[in-house]
Amino acid sequence: MSSKLNSRGIRVYCLLGDGEIQEGQVWEAAMTASHYKLDNLCVIVDNNNLQIDGAVDKVMSPYPIDSKFKAFGFHVINIDGHNIEEIIKAFDTAKTIKGKPTAIIAKTIKGKGVSFMENQVAWHGKAPNEEEYHNAIKELKKKGM
Ligand SMILES: [Mg+2]
Repeated sequence: MSSKLNSRGIRVYCLLGDGEIQEGQVWEAAMTASHYKLDNLCVIVDNNNLQIDGAVDKVMSPYPIDSKFKAFGFHVINIDGHNIEEIIKAFDTAKTIKGKPTAIIAKTIKGKGVSFMENQVAWHGKAPNEEEYHNAIKELKKKGM
């Protein structure tokens, strides 16, 4: 909002978790961004369907995420959050949207590419130990990731 008021031309990128958007302050901010036509704001929702207590749709469903952001006045783009071309295209499109903020809903898989981490909620809030780290890197290198 400061950038808009002072014509500074700064774009703001805000990364949100899909569990995080259960919090009411997110929607207060979303309503504000829309009301003040903050087209310099680009929200990215990391939609991996996991949060610290389990699956987001079991804890407290935020779905449908895209419709909710649309209802709050956002331009919405759904993408595969692991596809670099889709990510770049979404950011390029967001820059062209005038008069409203943009929300990019990025469908992702937590721990993608590491067999013992993929879709495992246990990895939400902990770091791998030395051995797990080396095994994860080995798997990712083998897959060219
Ligand atoms: Mg999540």
